[in-house]
Amino acid sequence: MSCCDAFYARALALEYAMNEMPAAATASLGQEAAPGIQRLDVRPVNAKEERQSLYAAREPVYPKLVHGKFRRIKWIIMIVTLGIYYGLPWLRWDRGPTLPNQAVLLDFAHQRLYFFGLEIWAQEFYYITGLLILSALALFLVTALAGRVWCGYTCPQTVWTDLMIMVERLWQGDRNARIKLAKSPWSINKLWRVGGTHLSWILIGILTGGALVFYFRDAPTLLSEFWRFDAPAIAYIFLAIFAATTYILGGLMREQLCTYMCPWPRIQGAMFDADSFLVTYRGFRGEPRGPHKKNESWEGRGDCIDCRQCVAVCPAGIDIRDGAQLECIQCALCVDACDEIMTKVGRPPKLIAYDTFRNLQAEKQGDRVPFRLIRPRTMLYAGLFAIVSCLMLFGLSRKTVLEMNAVPDRNPLFVQTQDGGIRNGFTIRLLNKRQEARTFALSVAGLPEARISIVGIEGNNPLIEVKPDDVRSVKVYVTVPHDKAMTLPASARMTFILRDSGDGTETKRDSNFRGPGQ
Ligand code: SF4
Ligand code: SF4
Repeated sequence: MSCCDAFYARALALEYAMNEMPAAATASLGQEAAPGIQRLDVRPVNAKEERQSLYAAREPVYPKLVHGKFRRIKWIIMIVTLGIYYGLPWLRWDRGPTLPNQAVLLDFAHQRLYFFGLEIWAQEFYYITGLLILSALALFLVTALAGRVWCGYTCPQTVWTDLMIMVERLWQGDRNARIKLAKSPWSINKLWRVGGTHLSWILIGILTGGALVFYFRDAPTLLSEFWRFDAPAIAYIFLAIFAATTYILGGLMREQLCTYMCPWPRIQGAMFDADSFLVTYRGFRGEPRGPHKKNESWEGRGDCIDCRQCVAVCPAGIDIRDGAQLECIQCALCVDACDEIMTKVGRPPKLIAYDTFRNLQAEKQGDRVPFRLIRPRTMLYAGLFAIVSCLMLFGLSRKTVLEMNAVPDRNPLFVQTQDGGIRNGFTIRLLNKRQEARTFALSVAGLPEARISIVGIEGNNPLIEVKPDDVRSVKVYVTVPHDKAMTLPASARMTFILRDSGDGTETKRDSNFRGPGQ
């Protein structure tokens, strides 16, 4: 026996002895374990035999089809959002002969983003940052006003899950038929229905992934490349990734993504307050719940007949009657289900409804409080949203069609020319965002009798030509005569002035001229 075998044998013997211990231990509680050593009255709270598995198998959710106001709203939003998503890459926008005519295009190859009339260069990525901040603030504001309406109606996970459930329903029937099919043994019928469902989900995944890659390359061109199987490999890779993601998240994971993976349900708790509109069950009106017989009085009992329609339609698989829950995406399908039941049994609707906690408390006392739209937190989010929007609009209104950067040489900071003058070197980078070639005259202000020379461009008034929609870097030397340079500090402020020789517009960039100092 090796030393390892001996070690494991001893460990097994010890484990066996420990497993055998409880009976003996119980008998000897309060006694001494050995002379002078007390046996403690302690129990392992995380004992091996009592320990629960960290993994729980998912209980499938089979949401029942419901009809009603909120279901209709959700259908409309689904059609509109999917229509925008699939249709947008095919929308054309004329930008002239040299630029792509796709209305929305993320042109990574040329480091541009086109959004209708807006063209964002890689150097202007702060606009995207601003847009993300605006989106986050809008989400905060909407959540403070009406809870997770984003999750319940417009979140892509919700929209695609809804679509997948609709397809599943087409193949396998409504809730009861789906449960029955899932429990039945495998047969040709089951194979056909389940297989058809998954194939349809995969097709939706491919169409979704396909639509997404169309945002990154001219859609008609890419489509014909797909047909000819000569699209770039990266397009196939991303199509496969997006198709698989859609199939897995929308078809297989569904509500699990919202409950376990998405951070938003955890964050949004900080944005609600007693005045936020949330889907709530009016317990004071519904309880005590229980079945109701024909012609039985409603006196002394609640309106809830415990039919559990609200549970059957819930895509998150929860019971709203248990109160506010993290899993609830506020889709209000339970509202539709319950309203239908209340109408059937002749009771007022809105046993489950969008309402505020403050109003619920008031209604318990037979009172009502109006919805408070203007509250400190809604004002804060709306104010921040307005400020960021104004900053963005201001930035966009001042968006230039020319950018200039001046980077001074670091080593050496300056050199002395043969005639004693002090010379600094700069790299000037020009970005021409127009669709026409432009020529610029460069000059410098703020330095006495400064001369400019540009490497590769001769003449006293050198002109720099930049091609349409292009970037050009030039090496520039600025020289100040010796006697004038001696009057300057070691670092003197100066300004490059770039004048468009076509329309006369000027662009300025400040920099520093280095010298020996006074
Ligand atoms: S649908 Fe309405 S009546 Fe039926 S169980 Fe739910 S809350 Fe009660
Ligand atoms: S409890 Fe109601 S609102 Fe919440 S997820 Fe379920 S059906 Fe939607």
